[in-house]
Amino acid sequence: MRVSEMLIPTLRETPAEAEIISHKLLLRAGFIRKTATGIYTYLPLGLRVIKKIMAIVRQEMNQQGGQEILMPIMQPAELWLESGRWHVYGPELMRLKDRHQRDFCLGPTHEEVITSLISSEIKSYKQLPQLLYQIANKYRDEQRPRFGLMRGREFIMKDLYSFDVDQEALNQSYQKMYQAYMNIFNRCGLDFRAVEADPGAIGGDATHEFMVLAESGEATVLYCAVCDYAANSEKVPAVTEVGRQKSEVGRKEDQLKITEVATPGAHTVEQVTKCLDVKPALLIKTLIYKTDQEVIAALVRGDRELNEIKLYNILKCLTLELADAATVRQVTAAPVGYAGPVNLQNMRLVVDEEVAEMVNAVTGANKKDTHLINVNPGRDFPVDSVADIRVVTAGEYCPKCAGELLQAKGIEVGQVFKLGDKYSKLLKATFLDQQGKAKPLMMGCYGIGVSRTMAAAVEQNHDQNGIIWPVNIAPFEVVVIPVNAKDDQQFKLATDIYHQLIDNGIETIMDDRLERAGVKFKDADLIGYPLRVVIGKKTIAEQLVEVHNRRTSTTENIAMDDVVSVVSKVSNVAATLQVCPETNNE
Ligand code: ATP
Ligand code: MG
Repeated sequence: MRVSEMLIPTLRETPAEAEIISHKLLLRAGFIRKTATGIYTYLPLGLRVIKKIMAIVRQEMNQQGGQEILMPIMQPAELWLESGRWHVYGPELMRLKDRHQRDFCLGPTHEEVITSLISSEIKSYKQLPQLLYQIANKYRDEQRPRFGLMRGREFIMKDLYSFDVDQEALNQSYQKMYQAYMNIFNRCGLDFRAVEADPGAIGGDATHEFMVLAESGEATVLYCAVCDYAANSEKVPAVTEVGRQKSEVGRKEDQLKITEVATPGAHTVEQVTKCLDVKPALLIKTLIYKTDQEVIAALVRGDRELNEIKLYNILKCLTLELADAATVRQVTAAPVGYAGPVNLQNMRLVVDEEVAEMVNAVTGANKKDTHLINVNPGRDFPVDSVADIRVVTAGEYCPKCAGELLQAKGIEVGQVFKLGDKYSKLLKATFLDQQGKAKPLMMGCYGIGVSRTMAAAVEQNHDQNGIIWPVNIAPFEVVVIPVNAKDDQQFKLATDIYHQLIDNGIETIMDDRLERAGVKFKDADLIGYPLRVVIGKKTIAEQLVEVHNRRTSTTENIAMDDVVSVVSKVSNVAATLQVCPETNNE
């Protein structure tokens, strides 16, 4: 392909809307354009990267016995009512009506469609296992669509569903997919980790997320400095029996008399600790939450954060959100900031394990400008419902070996789940086993954010001049640049080399524009082609071609005849992958 014939609208300035580097660079380098919030058009270069990721994904899925299908994006509400998720999914589900006022949604995921398909098509154990996948657009009306492709409302996902006869067979399918995911993200050239995760609304028991390590990641990964434990911080259980933490809060036999104290204007942890001259670890934070069924109070230590996922899993509710100021005032009879568990009647108290151990703590008094000191759990308020509901942070103990936990930020590019029989039971997907007995199918589901993977690759591979594509997912592996395209000799040599590279299966683009060399070099750096082959005066005079490696920033002068072999060493994928065969159509 020739740059002059392609739509590659590079920008010198960074668009104001972009916050993170991948968003900025994908816009500036002309890979994507915004159509609406969280909805993007892939321009020619962007689509090439997407196709390369898809090709790697397809190869690895097929390798494990996956069969590609394509399911509808528009799905009837009946299926979602049957699984119970029509109501659970909430406002994230894009809903629409047809002309007959029948309800539909745009698929955020496809468990319902595939399970209902399989329930009618699979009858016997002889037809199992089945591994079916698709690569298609997904729709989620995200609360905060942002960061370009990272969190879109329309995005591209690969989703595979496995159907097996029993848990043992499901474990095998899971293992296959886990391995395929390791291969995929390795081949995409990403620095990533597979971590334990929380199943969330999708359900099931075991699940792993694949996290690309990057500062801009929205997820926090905690990993052990000693053993191989690594998990999404949402999932990490608190190690409660820790001497260091207990000694901070005193001994049971030292319980003092509960006393009301004035704390005028102090309603944050910081203000209260300052006002009373105590450490945050002596405070109990009382957080009022609203679920779809009730209002509850959750108690965590002043220096801790509440983990909403843990709380959600304990309450087994459909929705969970912090109560608004009016609700807080109604249930505590005080403004926000003064809630406390003592005499907080008619409400369930969920007490964090650490809080239950506290002695002579400080809490709000359910009265404006007032707190209680020497509050003792069990004595002053009930501790019937004690659970681990706090966020674990770096520096704490590994739940597996008690080593120290370290922290990194991660971008979730994929997730694998063992769903078990959750959906097959709800949607009545059974098969007859060897004894002729009907059993629910054992399911797994496995997703990869294809468009998010593209953005994650840029987060990890860039410098101040632009993107540095891992060669396996680069839009082109090589750009050929005649320094002076008006010079007939240079242009002819460049064209010859361009054809030689293409004839050798190397995905090559030629920047044939009549622009200054500086402009073409700048664009090449911004777009991030792995190799730049420059034909200039030296080529004419000495038969030498300049080959510049974008990643190592090194330049070599190569004899014209050796260009193909030198370039082939770096760009070793196109021939084997045949990702974009239409490239080499000249
Ligand atoms: P997140 O926690 O980031 O919202 P998720 O856990 O809801 O993601 P899954 O249901 O596991 O997402 O979907 C599978 C994959 O699809 C994710 O691992 C991610 O790579 C991708 N993905 C999910 N939501 C989005 C989105 N809004 N935009 C782009 N990719 C997404
Ligand atoms: Mg996920």
